This record gives sequence, structure tokens and C-alpha cells, in this order.
Amino acid sequence: MYFRFRVKPGMTQVNMGKVIDGKAIAAGLYEEMQREVVELEQKYGRRPGLTVIIVGEDPASQVYVRNKEIAAKKVGFVSEVIRMPEQTTQEELLKVIARLNADPTVDGILVQLPVPKHIDKDAVIAAVAPEKDVDGFFGMKSGFTMKQGYVAPCTPRACIHLIKTTGETIEGRHALVVGRGELVGKPVATLLLNENATVTIAHSRTRNLGEIARTADIIIAAVGRPHIITGDMVKPGAILIDVGINRGADGKLCGDIDFASASEKAGWITPVPGGVGPMTIAMLMRNTLDCYLNRVR
Ligand code: NAP
Repeated sequence: MYFRFRVKPGMTQVNMGKVIDGKAIAAGLYEEMQREVVELEQKYGRRPGLTVIIVGEDPASQVYVRNKEIAAKKVGFVSEVIRMPEQTTQEELLKVIARLNADPTVDGILVQLPVPKHIDKDAVIAAVAPEKDVDGFFGMKSGFTMKQGYVAPCTPRACIHLIKTTGETIEGRHALVVGRGELVGKPVATLLLNENATVTIAHSRTRNLGEIARTADIIIAAVGRPHIITGDMVKPGAILIDVGINRGADGKLCGDIDFASASEKAGWITPVPGGVGPMTIAMLMRNTLDCYLNRVR
């Protein structure tokens, strides 16, 4: 492989490969968006608006929603969180979504999942106006043609952004996606196809994962099992994007890729933590900004 070994802001060199620092790249995106929001408010007379709806008291969801609220305020959006009790009916929730769909000051609507069991998640997702669907579910359902006005889901979009920060081309490259989950694997494979990569999708029934992986210029691992990709499975110079979030045997957070051995072979690699994770909320903000731009322009 033919890598240009230059280190960009947010990247550090380890062994042979360079670390793609998602935290630093996300920080850069936030700064960029802050400036953009100030300019856009002057031009269009209002700031982008993001409304997050949370139904019930799920503690993890409460944390996610709080982090989204903090991020939205940080970039200067009009941020609203609608908290609804556990016993909220589907009809009541759909009514709130309909009101937000019709509100011209709301550019992005996100219903925090999971919703309580008595509510049909698919009906809720389908109720959000496609042009305000900052989670990118609509794009996914519609075969993901990236039609103007619809954004890509946040984590898959983050993966593509991280690859692009390396300066490497995606077009014509062999990209292996490990995992075919609805939230990451499938949509990221489609995004890679949209970038004209040659895409292989591996899953739990795949035979000879190592053999396939060794031919890949790009590997995106979205499995949820520690160290499923090891250095001996990596083509020298490959770009490795690790989406997995796992607890290792030592109790520490780790990804799907064995960082120690894989970084010896990789051209570029994302760490866990500090790789894809910090980028996901940044991409939610980018999605909101893009939905706003699609609506005001
Ligand atoms: P998921 O829907 O459960 O999908 C996991 C996929 O891994 C499935 O397609 C499964 O194959 C495949 N798989 C399981 N064992 C395998 C094996 N031995 N070899 C190859 N493939 C195997 O999970 P997900 O929601 O996509 O999440 C995947 C990981 O990403 C999790 O660790 C999650 O926490 C993390 N995640 C991180 C972020 C972030 O912001 N960083 C966001 C979302 C998710 P089958 O289809 O054959 O069962």
C-alpha cells in the first residue's frame, strides 16, 4: 500500500501506524460549527434548533440525552429536551412529534431509544419528518441513496469522516465491514459504497475472516467483541476504524480491534476510547446543522 506518512492535527504516530484521534477531530468539528452557527444566525435570522424527546427514566438514556443537550448548547443551537413519563401513550408521543414536525424553528428531532415496550419504535421513527430526522433512520430505510435533504446516521457518518481525515482515498479501495447490525454495519457499508469503495460485509457466519481481512485496505469493525481483529489479520498500511465498545478481561474499555498488534501493521488506526465514540455526538450536531441548511437555503 502507498501511504503518505504525514501526521495531521489530531493524529499521533505509534509504531508503524498513526492514531486517528477522534477526540481532537471532534473538538475541531465543534469549533468549526460554533463559527458557522454565528454566521448563519446573521444570515438567516435564527439558530439551528434540535429537540430531543426522552420517554421514561432509563438511566443510560438520561446520560446520552444530557450529553446531546450539552453538545447542542456548546455549538450554539437552540436546544430543547422534552421529557415524557414512562406511561406516555404512543398517541401522545406521536402528537408531540407531529407538533415538532410542523414547527419551523425545529430543524432536528431525535427520539431517544429505547422507548418503553408499549410504544412501537418503528411507528415513532416513521413519524419523524424525513427532513428533520437527524438520526438518519429515514435514509437507512429508504435504501440510503443520500438524497439531498436526508442525512446519514451519526456513527456511520463519523466512520467515513475519520477515514477522510487521513487524506487517503476511499474510491476503488477494498473496504471490509465486520458486523451487519442495523445501526452501524449495514449503513456504513452503504456509505462506503456511495464513496465507491469495493465493499465486503462480514458477520458471525463468515468463514475465513482473517483471509478476507488481509485483503482489505480499510476495515471497519462493528461487532461488539473484544479483539476480533488482530494484527496478523491486517494488511500492512490498512486504515482501521474500531466502532466496538467492550469491556476487556482487565475490566478496561476496549474495541473490536486488538490495538497493540494491529497498530504495528496499520497505516491508520482509531483507539478505543477516544476514536469513533467522541465523533458520534459531533456528527449528530453536524446532521442538525445540515438539516437546518437544507431547510433555510
Ligand atoms: P449488533 O447490531 O449486535 O451487530 C453486531 C454484528 O456483529 C452482527 O452483525 C453479528 O453478526 C456480528 N458478529 C458477531 N460475532 C461475530 C464474529 N465472531 N465475527 C464476525 N461478525 C460477528 O451491534 P451494533 O449495534 O452494530 O454495535 C456493534 C458495536 O459497536 C458494539 O460494541 C456497540 O457498543 C458499538 N457501537 C459504538 C458506537 C459508538 O458511538 N462508538 C455506536 C454504536 C455502536 P450476525 O448478524 O451474523 O449476528
